Amino acid sequence: MARRLGWLGFIFFFLVIFSFAADRDSDRELTDRLIAEALKPSPLETNLRRLADEIGGRVPGTPAFQRAVDWGVAAFKDAGADSVHTEEFAIQHSWEEGATEMTASLYSGAAIPIHAVSVAWAPALPPATHVPIVDVGEGSAAEFARVGDVAGRIVLVHSKVLANWDDLFAEYARAPKVIALAAKGKAKAIAFMSTREHGILYRHTNSAAGEIDALPQVVVAREDGERIARLLASANPVWANLSIPNKIGGAIKSWNVVAEIRGSEKPDEFVVLGAHLDSWELGTGALDNGCNSALVIDALRAIKASGLKPRRSIRFILFSGEEEGEIGSRSYATAHRNELDKAAGVVVFDAGTGKTTTFSTGGRKDVLAAAQAMLAPLEQFGVTKAVATAESGTDHFDFMLEGVPTFVADQEEANYLENYHATTDTFDKVDFVQLKKNVAEAAALSFELANTPDPIGLRLSRAQIEQTLHETHFDQELKDMGMWDEWAHGKRGRQQ
Ligand SMILES: [Zn+2]
Repeated sequence: MARRLGWLGFIFFFLVIFSFAADRDSDRELTDRLIAEALKPSPLETNLRRLADEIGGRVPGTPAFQRAVDWGVAAFKDAGADSVHTEEFAIQHSWEEGATEMTASLYSGAAIPIHAVSVAWAPALPPATHVPIVDVGEGSAAEFARVGDVAGRIVLVHSKVLANWDDLFAEYARAPKVIALAAKGKAKAIAFMSTREHGILYRHTNSAAGEIDALPQVVVAREDGERIARLLASANPVWANLSIPNKIGGAIKSWNVVAEIRGSEKPDEFVVLGAHLDSWELGTGALDNGCNSALVIDALRAIKASGLKPRRSIRFILFSGEEEGEIGSRSYATAHRNELDKAAGVVVFDAGTGKTTTFSTGGRKDVLAAAQAMLAPLEQFGVTKAVATAESGTDHFDFMLEGVPTFVADQEEANYLENYHATTDTFDKVDFVQLKKNVAEAAALSFELANTPDPIGLRLSRAQIEQTLHETHFDQELKDMGMWDEWAHGKRGRQQ
């Protein structure tokens, strides 16, 4: 007996010594174990094929979106979630495109079919014939002034070919000013030239929160738009017949899908791993953002299959209404405002299957060092660091404005931009080798945020959040996009 106790004491002594000396190493071991599990074969590809091919494009308020919710619930259960439920919210209007038709005609009588789609959440336009088209260049105030009277006309707005993320943000930032100028001049409609070549059309929206926009708008094929511009520049007047019979209805309900792995020590504290389930419907929303919905589900599977039990809970959320202005994640952040002191981090993926290069912390410098340590196991995938940049445009945004630490995967453009919101956003564009690595990153970072003894950062106060917005000059971007007033008037983000 004495001898056995001696042995036990001896073993116990070494366990204590090792557990102190090797704490960081054992954390690393856990993360490596999780990464190995995440890289194993899984239903990732089958799940995404079902979502993209069998369900297809999924706009909130449509039967396809309902099927996507069922898909999410079933896939989370199969992945081993401790619980799955849906949370309802409202979008102020339904919107569906009708059979948009546009034809241009010349003085000679020659007719030119124009490939055009309506901008989403833009109003309908009853059939209008022989409407003069005027070219307003890129749509600056100076260019509108040069053109003069645009009343009753269609204004053609030029664009450059989308090449990088900055171009995309610039496109979003420019549109509200163009619309305001066109509306002020009483234009009949706006024709935005497509930012993609080869006839690619895409669904775009300039509505910020599901409201119906000020003017009817279409995106026209780049080649058609350039032809009209050349004709106008060579003194050939161009008229258009245009019909945009959009179907617009009253408020609709939609749902976020929420699955949970319950924390082993602090189950009321939580980390969110999120991606949006809704998509536009010209394509099948494979890159934006079906692949990352499937990623969220596969990350849950990997954590459960690894046998690891995080100290805090992890909520895996498929948001809805993202494309209409992050309405689902905004509703979630608002509805759960009273428990956000216990939110230990929000991780979001929303940029297709490009390689992750950095994680953006929403402007916060206080979490950089700890985040850097958590990202060390991901260096093998090319994730180099955490950066204190701030951005809008995806589902972390309202959590960031609530002061919760957020981590958005910054990804290489890869093939994302050409296919963004487009007819060509389909399953065949998905890079599954890279997507698997992104699953490993999402699982590892979410697990580490949930398992670290102390949370990575405290919830910021309203004053601290505003300070962060100033430091990153993000306040100016929000002003440019017309999103500042809601924050300034306390309608969005942390109240005090
Ligand atoms: Zn997206």
